[in-house]
Amino acid sequence: MSILPILLWPDPKLIETCTPIEEITPEIETLAADMLETMYAAPGRGLAGPQVGAMLRIFVMDTGWKEGKPDPLVCINPMFHEIGEERATNSEGCLSIPGVSAEISRPAQVQMVWTGLNGGRYVQSFSGFAAACAQHELDHLDGVVTFDHLDADTRAVLEAEYAA
Ligand code: ZN
Repeated sequence: MSILPILLWPDPKLIETCTPIEEITPEIETLAADMLETMYAAPGRGLAGPQVGAMLRIFVMDTGWKEGKPDPLVCINPMFHEIGEERATNSEGCLSIPGVSAEISRPAQVQMVWTGLNGGRYVQSFSGFAAACAQHELDHLDGVVTFDHLDADTRAVLEAEYAA
């Protein structure tokens, strides 16, 4: 396994839409292992393919490891099945936008469907921070970052803060 370099905003790869993964090859298995290692080393709770220059629909997340309850997920071709109506605001950081956290309002509950590394299909409901994390990572696969959820004034302030 190896730690991969993390692309930083405004790298143009971070605004591209990623391609579905058609087959889980040994290269995909290696990529997933490297992404988990890179995420833990960063340290972070989620990392998406484009953040390491892999323009594929894959992300890893583990919302429990910092609290001593590791729960690593490798999510291939993830989609939201159900999206709750209630919204919640979380402070979100991003490994590609280090040093900046943004208050982002999103659906408080989502049900996500994805393919695991073993080729199995997974369905899981997420709430709280995990719901925000899953949405943040899936956003990356569509070229969307936290800045894109902000109004123009807030975005300008945070982009200036990031550039400083
Ligand atoms: Zn991010």
